[in-house]
Amino acid sequence: MNPIEVQNFFHLQKRKSWEIRSLHIDHRISYLHKLKDVVKNHEPQIIEAFQKDYQKPALEVVMTEIYPVLHEIQNFIKHLHQWAMPQSKSSGLLFPFTSSEVLSEPKGTCLIIAPWNYPFGLALTPLVGAIGAGNTAIIKPSELTPAVSQIIADIVKEVFPSEIALVIQGGKETSQALLDLPFDHIFFTGSNEVGKIVMAKAAQNLTSVTLELGGKSPSIIDEKADLKLAAEKIIWGKTLNNGQTCVAPDYILIHENSVSRFIAECESFLKTFDQHQVSNIISNRHRDRLTKLEEDALQKGAKPLLKNFVSILQMNETSMSAQIMKEEIFGPLLPLITYEDTESLIHFIIDRPKPLALYIFSKNNDFIEAILKRTSSGGACINDTIIHVGNHALPFGGVGESGIGSYHGKASFQAFSHQKSIMKQGLFPRISHYFYPPYTETKLKLFRLLIKLGF
Ligand code: NAD
Repeated sequence: MNPIEVQNFFHLQKRKSWEIRSLHIDHRISYLHKLKDVVKNHEPQIIEAFQKDYQKPALEVVMTEIYPVLHEIQNFIKHLHQWAMPQSKSSGLLFPFTSSEVLSEPKGTCLIIAPWNYPFGLALTPLVGAIGAGNTAIIKPSELTPAVSQIIADIVKEVFPSEIALVIQGGKETSQALLDLPFDHIFFTGSNEVGKIVMAKAAQNLTSVTLELGGKSPSIIDEKADLKLAAEKIIWGKTLNNGQTCVAPDYILIHENSVSRFIAECESFLKTFDQHQVSNIISNRHRDRLTKLEEDALQKGAKPLLKNFVSILQMNETSMSAQIMKEEIFGPLLPLITYEDTESLIHFIIDRPKPLALYIFSKNNDFIEAILKRTSSGGACINDTIIHVGNHALPFGGVGESGIGSYHGKASFQAFSHQKSIMKQGLFPRISHYFYPPYTETKLKLFRLLIKLGF
């Protein structure tokens, strides 16, 4: 699509967004029903597209791409009336006889930019939020998964007229041309590097942003943790989508006494794995990056502990300076770092950028509490990995370098809505005129007295 066509669609959607905002909530819900049906009907083609793009196993496609979208749609259909209801608020004693409420209004026309690693779910889940909140939306899926992006385009075309929702395919140039337009909200999922570009572009139009980014999510294994459970959960979290998951365990922090037993549990669990049931690394460029990360770590003294689906590398003082400990790994490499005590463990985490997820394996509630309270992360999961993202009653998002804002369920509705505060005068609208000019000493004293009385 050329830039003029893109602009034309944008203006069409802008106009339409003013028209649809006043329509009944059921208008949005009918689109969500239709989206649900069309996604369900396309399940075989979606699975096939994932096979073409990077051999993602069917179970993973259904579990981590199709189901989350259907779940989000169902959540919106069930709760939208309640979420969209004006919220009545107290006016306080200072404003007697007035009424106050908060009205959630659609932001307008939204841009959704999606990454390649969960290309279906991360394009359509935000779309559910945008449509549910009464917006129009343009979706720019990833250029690295062309078959899946085409299915997304087909589905959106079948469900929505283009002035309500539209997919525009393309790479970074298309993305940048879209980012030049004055959208009312930009929902971006992707890398921190591109997140900064998105935010800078959004600043030009003072457009609000939700940034769902990545980072290095640690997995902490306490001295007395169930090591078999920790091994199974961490290996599952790291092999899901072949480690190409924003909330994948990035590295392990383990008590020094537990290393050999933990590795033995990983080895035993991995015996059940089948090479054909793991996604491919998305491209040769990404594979080369991972090879370089591993070689660099080994060269700097990292010790290989296991190499079967996942490479676990024990880091020492010199290898800690390797690139693998500086950037998000996003693949089946797993550095392992030992710690001696809780204090040094907490300092290790807080000396680094705030991660998107933090995993704790422990049976000790005091230890768990201490980590949760003294560190910061987008989300956390105790004695498991990744599953917190699947609960749409929980807002999902990063903090600091791992992102801005959150979504899923009600949080999505709020991300795509503006909270408009409204006050209505009542029976005695002139009651406050006493404090209008001329200002006198008596009025000042009375106002001070009211404040003292807690009005
Ligand atoms: P990416 O940032 O390279 O690309 C994301 C999107 O931005 C794509 O649609 C791409 O076309 C576009 N883009 C790329 N370069 C651009 C530029 N210079 N200007 C404007 N747009 C540009 O990310 P990716 O490689 O597709 O995905 C992997 C990253 O996404 C990882 O860092 C991962 O942690 C993160 N991620 C985060 C979440 C989350 O929910 N927090 C989920 C999945 C992935």
